[in-house]
Amino acid sequence: MIVQRPLNVVIVGGGTAGWMAAAAFTAALKPEQRRVRLIESSEIGTVGVGEATLPHLRMFNRRIGIDERDLMAKTQATFKLGIEFVDWARVGDSYIHPFGAYGSRMAGVPFHQYWLRQKKQGQAAPLEAYSLPIVAARQGKFALPVDDPASLLSTFGYAFQFDASLYASYLRGFAEQRGVQRIEGKVIDVQLRGTDGWIESLKLENGTVVAGDLFIDCSGFRGLLIEQALHTGYEEWTRWLPCDRAVAVPSRNVGPLTPYTRATAREAGWQWRIPLQHRTGNGYVYSSNFISDDAAAEKLLSRLDGEALGTPRFLRFVAGRRRKTWNKNCVAVGLAGGFLEPLESTSIYLIQIAITTLIDYLADSARFDPRIVDAYNRWIDMEYDRVRDFLILHYHANQRDDAPIWNYCRTMAVPDSLAQRMELFRHRGRVITYKDGLFLEASWLAVYLGQRVIPVGYDLLADALNATELERRTRSLREQIEQAVARMPTHEQFLGNYCPAKLA
Ligand SMILES: Cc1cc2nc3c(=O)[nH]c(=O)nc-3n(C[C@H](O)[C@H](O)[C@H](O)COP(=O)(O)OP(=O)(O)OC[C@H]3O[C@@H](n4cnc5c(N)ncnc54)[C@H](O)[C@@H]3O)c2cc1C
Repeated sequence: MIVQRPLNVVIVGGGTAGWMAAAAFTAALKPEQRRVRLIESSEIGTVGVGEATLPHLRMFNRRIGIDERDLMAKTQATFKLGIEFVDWARVGDSYIHPFGAYGSRMAGVPFHQYWLRQKKQGQAAPLEAYSLPIVAARQGKFALPVDDPASLLSTFGYAFQFDASLYASYLRGFAEQRGVQRIEGKVIDVQLRGTDGWIESLKLENGTVVAGDLFIDCSGFRGLLIEQALHTGYEEWTRWLPCDRAVAVPSRNVGPLTPYTRATAREAGWQWRIPLQHRTGNGYVYSSNFISDDAAAEKLLSRLDGEALGTPRFLRFVAGRRRKTWNKNCVAVGLAGGFLEPLESTSIYLIQIAITTLIDYLADSARFDPRIVDAYNRWIDMEYDRVRDFLILHYHANQRDDAPIWNYCRTMAVPDSLAQRMELFRHRGRVITYKDGLFLEASWLAVYLGQRVIPVGYDLLADALNATELERRTRSLREQIEQAVARMPTHEQFLGNYCPAKLA
């Protein structure tokens, strides 16, 4: 990394975002290249939810040098092979969005095109049967993927379900050991430079003044620096993502720990269920236009698998993102930068991308070059926009008419970017994939088909294989997946051997 003089980084906030930023900066820059301080107020506290992740987090951990097994044991983590969506397109439906592919290309044609062809001819097995992570998830099995591309066990990835507060504490230990200075205190004033309005320093309640070059705003929904001081503005997306509240409560574990997160559509939103080693995380994400807080809490409590541990906690949010997440010498990361509901567990991913992209861009040229700042903002906007479209798909493509929220979402106008993608898929099953960012082909496929968006045709190149050969290959693939899963240990057996929980 090219660094001209030590970079004086001040992070405000000690939630998941703040400590991920602190850990990443200390890992990326040598001690003589940086001074990193993190200010947090235990009086204010953190949002305290955020338990389901995406496989990308493993790359972040690896990049900064975290031992995954140790981390899992110390954060009560379980493995996650995907997300089960229950009752989304119609009441009674269930599908899993897996972390892995369905089959593999044959003669250069995506596997799902052959499946669509068989489906048109009434000969298709369920698509799930061609996804190893789904078959394993449904049977409560888990094993680590392998590197050998010839093995079926290389066709999937995994993420964690963990206690996000323990993850933040873990990163705190990691970052402090590497020289990050933690400052306990409440920021009460932000001093801006007279000439250009850049942030000069922060004033704490006890009178301390903290100056810096780069300020990372990880202060949560309040956006203390990016919004309250710099008035950057917020682009709101509630017209497409109407949920604006959540109520959360943990419960006692009942039954085997599932290696997946569950999202069940409800009368005014949806309910999450995330099994950790010591408890299950639950929450109801809802729209205040369609249900009251009291009713939402009552519904949540009546639908837990096990006894509630504690009283329900309410959270409020507005779907959207800052107009710029990098403004002047301030970069907003985490909830300060924007919020998209946790339906696809994307918030920690967006934190990770914000931090790693920032570090890469800072290294790339003179710091704070406006061209770099613009490029960074475009990149982060793109990441948010893509997640937004994917989330909207879940709501929009529904066939439920049992509750006003579902009628609203089914009939609302969606962003053009999503409408065009859906149109292409409906025509011949074409999935537009991106070179960068979320999500891959299998993810879109899982959600399109799970939400009953069924193409009218298929790619005619999938006619290349004759029917007998196609049937032979697809049956063989299903059998191989069944056999591979049969050899896997249960998720609990695997956890017990690999990363049984221990106190930090
Ligand atoms: C209902 C819900 C469910 C979620 N589920 C998931 C999930 O399953 N997966 C996922 O990836 N994400 C999820 N998230 C998002 C996830 O919780 C957050 O992205 C993550 O916790 C990061 O939060 P944060 O660090 O940005 O903010 P916070 O946790 O709110 O931390 C803010 C920090 O700023 C400090 N602070 C604020 N003001 C001041 C001040 N004046 N002076 C000093 N310090 C200050 C606070 O003390 C605190 O340390 C969920 C969010 C919600 C709302």
